[in-house]
Amino acid sequence: MQRASRIAQLENTAHWDLIIIGGGATGLGAAVDAASRGLKTLLIERADFAKGTSSRSTKLVHGGVRYLAQGNIKLVKEALRERGYLLKNAPHICSTQPFLIPVYTWFDKFFYGIGLMTYDLLAGKLSLGATKILSAKKTIELLPSIKQENLKGSIQYFDGQFDDSRLAIDLAYTATSEGATVLNYVSLVGFEKKGQKIIGIHCKDEISGKKYTVPASSFINATGVFTDQVLQFDDAQREQIVRPSQGVHLVVRKEFFKTSYAMMVPKTADGRVFFAVPWHDSVVLGTTDTAIDTISMEPQAMDGEIDFIIEHFNKYNAVAISRNDVQSVFVGLRPLVKAGGVASTALISRDHTIIVSTSGLVTITGGKWTTYRRMAHDAVNNALFVSKQPKRDCVTRNLKIGDPEKRRAMIGAIILEDPNYAKQLHQNYPYTVAEIIFAIRHELAETVEDLLARRTRLLFLDARVAISLAQTAANLLAKELGKDQEWEKKQVESFQELAYLYIC
Ligand SMILES: Cc1cc2nc3c(=O)[nH]c(=O)nc-3n(C[C@H](O)[C@H](O)[C@H](O)COP(=O)(O)OP(=O)(O)OC[C@H]3O[C@@H](n4cnc5c(N)ncnc54)[C@H](O)[C@@H]3O)c2cc1C
Repeated sequence: MQRASRIAQLENTAHWDLIIIGGGATGLGAAVDAASRGLKTLLIERADFAKGTSSRSTKLVHGGVRYLAQGNIKLVKEALRERGYLLKNAPHICSTQPFLIPVYTWFDKFFYGIGLMTYDLLAGKLSLGATKILSAKKTIELLPSIKQENLKGSIQYFDGQFDDSRLAIDLAYTATSEGATVLNYVSLVGFEKKGQKIIGIHCKDEISGKKYTVPASSFINATGVFTDQVLQFDDAQREQIVRPSQGVHLVVRKEFFKTSYAMMVPKTADGRVFFAVPWHDSVVLGTTDTAIDTISMEPQAMDGEIDFIIEHFNKYNAVAISRNDVQSVFVGLRPLVKAGGVASTALISRDHTIIVSTSGLVTITGGKWTTYRRMAHDAVNNALFVSKQPKRDCVTRNLKIGDPEKRRAMIGAIILEDPNYAKQLHQNYPYTVAEIIFAIRHELAETVEDLLARRTRLLFLDARVAISLAQTAANLLAKELGKDQEWEKKQVESFQELAYLYIC
């Protein structure tokens, strides 16, 4: 129902002010930004919202302690500001998370103590709590499973934590409330041009197979690691600019890390940052940084990456884990822009890149979830400028994201249809049948994967549990969407095939 009315908007709108390609953090942020400025906005996503990197982050709302170590104060300050806005505008999805950096030398205690105090100072009024230097005794109290030999104490600091794909769904909701048309399972397949200029897109509804040509004044390419594919639809000769790098995460049960604190190791033996972060009653461990040659919607962890994470967790944590303890493995791809590949860059700022092509296409890539709002602001400003549309001010700094009360009330109304809908899908996780039905009716969930990977996070929390719930989810989907048993069976099979990739 909901999808049909959006497809009708796609078919019946004579002209759009802006079309955004890509429904991850960047594209959805741009849709919220543009629609709330009053632009007639269309966003198309070829898979599901946040199916790409935006559901596969470490789930931190952070200023980037890493950038501080590099002396990039401006970048850290800006990300800390965005951290503050996000926690204020989406408090139902983002929360303050205390972190501890365990230290094993007096030098590290001093060095990281000063560093994290600076980090907090840079946050100014948007500080989430003062950095403190803790004794070894206090550290053991807060992180009971920390390795104690030679422990000199820890640095306590604060950052934010969030549920990435839930935030994406709420951004889609907010963009729609502001007047945008936001569609998943619609892919860009080409551009319509007049001379050198893009005047429209060719897109395909991946569910019905129907193709459309859609005219617009301006275009944003927000396709993450797939940026080059879209740039080449515009100019087939265009050199590739993205060099992908992958980051692996493992999820284990909370009993291995019994604390509400997150642990951060700023520099592992090979110079990486390592996190153990409590998330939805489990613990996320990661990440890695491995350059790869091929990009895919379902990147796979390499054995060495899994071993690296297990070894590093066991190096700092007295309760050791092995592969058998891993409930889920998920991998995200970073779209790093090759040096020299941005000759035509219009505005390079911060850690994201904006490229304006001669066709008028505005490409935005890089950055992080935390700074999506600022990235959206920059991308929409560029799109307006390039297409010579009147300047309009960005209004997202104080714009609330999502409407948790309305969502709760609508889920409550679904339970009134049948009290059985209040039941949890699985005893270990709080998600209810009513939430699944709500996601199908109001959050554009079209597949079992949408329901179990991104509307709920079961695939990321425990792949085996997700596999066991595929039939239930498929059944509810088929009933709500009016699909037959054959469709239902295929949904279960394709989800289970995918979910096995999340088991290591
Ligand atoms: C391992 C890892 C950990 C991270 N951790 C954090 C963190 O803790 N905190 C933080 O702030 N940031 C983090 N980040 C960064 C953050 O996740 C990314 O910056 C962000 O998700 C990128 O969003 P995006 O919208 O640019 O790309 P994506 O989320 O990849 O979205 C691009 C979308 O474009 C769609 N698309 C592609 N081609 C087409 C087409 N032809 N037609 C239509 N749609 C198309 C894709 O399907 C995809 O959904 C992390 C990144 C990685 C890799």
